[in-house]
This record gives sequence, C-alpha cells and structure tokens, in this order.
Amino acid sequence: MDLRLYDTKSAALVPFEPLQEGKASIYLCGPTVQSSPHIGHLRAAASFDILVRWLLRSGLDVTYVRNVTDIDDKILNKAADSGEPWWAIAQKYEREFQSAYATLGMIPPTIEPRATGHITDQIELVQRLIERGHAYEDEAGSVYFDVSSQPDYGSLTHQNPADLLNDDEESTPGKRSPHDFALWKARKDSEPETASWPSPWGLGRPAWHLECSAMSKRYLGEAFDIHGGGIDLRFPHHENEQAQSHGAGWDFANLWVHNAWVTTQGEKMSKSVGNTLALDSLLDQASAPVIRLALSSVHHRSTIEWGPRTLEMAQANWDKIAGFVREATGVVGEPESIFLTPTELPEGFTQAMNDDLNVSAALAVIHEHVKLGRKALADGEEEAIRRELLLVRSMMDVLGVDPGSPNWGGNTSSDASAVGEQTAGVAAALIDEVLQLRQRAREQKDWAQSDDIRDALARLGIAIKDQPEGTTWGHEGWANYLSGVSRAYQGLRRAQVEALGIRKRTDEG
Ligand SMILES: [Zn+2]
Repeated sequence: MDLRLYDTKSAALVPFEPLQEGKASIYLCGPTVQSSPHIGHLRAAASFDILVRWLLRSGLDVTYVRNVTDIDDKILNKAADSGEPWWAIAQKYEREFQSAYATLGMIPPTIEPRATGHITDQIELVQRLIERGHAYEDEAGSVYFDVSSQPDYGSLTHQNPADLLNDDEESTPGKRSPHDFALWKARKDSEPETASWPSPWGLGRPAWHLECSAMSKRYLGEAFDIHGGGIDLRFPHHENEQAQSHGAGWDFANLWVHNAWVTTQGEKMSKSVGNTLALDSLLDQASAPVIRLALSSVHHRSTIEWGPRTLEMAQANWDKIAGFVREATGVVGEPESIFLTPTELPEGFTQAMNDDLNVSAALAVIHEHVKLGRKALADGEEEAIRRELLLVRSMMDVLGVDPGSPNWGGNTSSDASAVGEQTAGVAAALIDEVLQLRQRAREQKDWAQSDDIRDALARLGIAIKDQPEGTTWGHEGWANYLSGVSRAYQGLRRAQVEALGIRKRTDEG
C-alpha cells in the first residue's frame, strides 16, 4: 500500500511497510481508568480508529491492541480519598470509557488487555531484565530499570539520557540514579492488600510503564508495526517502554505515531475544564456523530483548539453532508455495501488518506462529492445520485462518521431534530386518537369520561379547545417538548449502547 505515516522516532514521513505481508499490528496506550472520559481522552482513540479503518479498507488483517491501566498511583489515591475499593473505581470508569467509545462509533480493538490481568507476564519481564543486567532490586523489594545499561535510551525522543530525569517517580531511596525508573513497586503499608501480588521480590505491584511492554509482547510478539498514543506519552512513558522491550531483546515498535492534544484557550485540557468537556455534557449540546466529526476533521498531529465554535462548525458540516445522504437515500434507497477499497474511492481522497491520514484534505473531497450529488438530485439523475451517495457514505465511514451508520440509531437523518420531528409526529397522531375517544364519550353523553380525558391531557401540558368545527389542541412548551424528546432519544441510544456493550462491527465486516 502507498500509506506514509509520520514516525516520531525517525522524525520523518516514512512508508508504511507491514512486518508481515497482509497484516498490520497496532498497540495503542489506552486510558488510566481513574476519571470520566472527556474529549481530550477520546481524541487518541478517534485518531487511531481512522488509521485502523484505513488499514482495513486497504485489505490488511489488523490486530489492534488498546490496553486499560486499571492499577496505578492515581487510582489508589482516589480510592483512599473516597473510601471505595480501588478496583470498583477502575471498573466504573472503564465502563464509562467503553460506553464513550461505543457512543462515538469507534471500532472495538481486537483486545483490550488490563494491567491487573497480566501480572505474571510483567513479573517474567522484570526477571528477564534483571538477568540481562538491565534492572536491580532495592532493600524494600522494589525493582528499577538501570537507564545507564541501555545504550539507545533517549533515541525515541531524541534526547540525551543525561538530561532525562524520571522525576515522575516519587522519591525512592532505593534508586541508584535519578535517571532510573521503577519496574516493580514493593507494597506500602498504606496501600490496600488487594493492590499487591506475590513476586520473587515480595508483595508488590507493577509500575506503570511495564504493562505495555509485557502486553504488547503477549499479543503482538517481539516486534509489531505501529505504536500509538498522545504526544504527552512520548516521555517518559514511551521512552521507558522502549527501554524495557529493547532491554529484553525485543525489537518492539517499528513506527511510532503520536496524536496532538485537544486544547482549550491554548492550554492542554485540565481536569476542571475536562469536567465541562466530558462526553456526557457535550451530548447535551450536539449529537454523537457531530462530536465525532469535530474530532475527525483535524489532522492527528495538529492540535484541536476546542472552543464555542468547534461544535457549531462540525454541526454545519454534518448538516450539509447528512442532509444530502438523507435526501439521496430517500430517492435511490440504501447502497448495498459502502465498503469501497482505496482504488475504488475518489483518487483525491485516497491520496489524502495515504498522506499521513490527511483528514482535512479528505473532507474537502467529500464536500466536492456532496456538491456533485446535490446537482444530481436537482437534475433528477438517479445513476449519479446513487454513485455520489455511495462515495460520500464510504468516505465518511473511513472517518468514522457515516451518516447512515446504524451506530447513530439506524437512521440516515441522524440528527436529533429530525428524530424529534418524527417522534413529535407520532405524539400528535396519538393525541388526535385520544381526542376521538373523547369525542365518542361526548356523543354518548359520558361527561365524566370526557372530563377525565381532558384533565389527563392537561396534566401533560396539552390544552384542548372545543369549537363548533371540532376540538383543537395546543402545547405551551411544544418547542421545549421537542428538544426534550431529542434528548430523551439520545439518552435512550446511549443506554442501549451501554446495555449491548461494544457494538458489533457492521460495515467493516
Ligand atoms: Zn503504554
């Protein structure tokens, strides 16, 4: 394939050449499950979702691993503060992340391994590093990586090891050098018993960096194609992962792909801002595909500056594209399959995607085809409508935002107001039915029944008026009611996704 990706390690655009023909293996650092997901957390998953979709379209057999860090200092601190067990906190937030990924229509990874499910793999790796002269134990039973023993330390981030302090570690008297980092942490008396496991060095738990080296080895082997994550993970996390795996004698990642941050007013999203940009609050402002489109419209190495206009612009783009899809589907029906390969898609789109996943150029091509489709609609040329509908939906699916995807409710309109209109139509028909029942009661002079029906409607905010030409009705807060229906619909959709767990892939086969 002709895909070129920007590789952090070589600091250049390089051709993607799979280590095994016809296959692609990807490891993405997933969330530390200690808080609710906000838009910053979801960006990495959205960026790599597009990469995975493009590799699948290109005919590769993709193995996609995204881990869950379910034990860590932050989770333990949170548990100590709240009095809840650490594992209950981790599970609760893991579920929230799963729900957020599904809501935004992400392809589920092949596997999502948890750190606590791979303790023996991690202990074996530490033993291997000690045997190979890269790690040492202190008196308390903690084990550290000896940075000076690894000649290529610093090569991922192009830094001199002497300048790199692993100062993210709390002060640890057992470290021989401040450059070293923890592999295994001896149990502290202040920590719950459930947060430690027996090891050759006594009770303890794995330190953060270790899990990714151990789990990528288990599922992807000693060498794999692409390692991904947010740019903030480059140091120390990814540099340390690489040191561990290279120290163990494994080739590890062939390419390193890092996505940029989401910022608000130029700053990386803080926790306080993060709360207001939690997915649940954003879903009150826009539908899931609109939020997803806001994430999918910016190149993965460019910062997304999230402001009041971000969702407005995504909504305007969505309305244009989804509006065309809705109308075109109304004329020619659903395409049988939208899984076009890169050679079947418009050349400009394929070139843009192969150019380091240039989604903004790809979106420009989508808009061109929406224009062509609009023209075909105006001219009533069914063949052209059918072709443009297929192309637009296929291209949008590559970006994870196909308006016709069942992920958004199996409804090509996909926007909340259209759903609201449909529901309102049903409500209006029901009210008319109820008024006919009341009319029959009145004809039989059953005034009690007639009044009961009137009162029941009044309790729902619906006022009726008996006039010579028939009974009319109105709703004071009809607009509020409509938006309430839309919100209820979105909530219902979320609940369904949650209940079903991770959505089954449809278009991707
Ligand atoms: Zn990692």
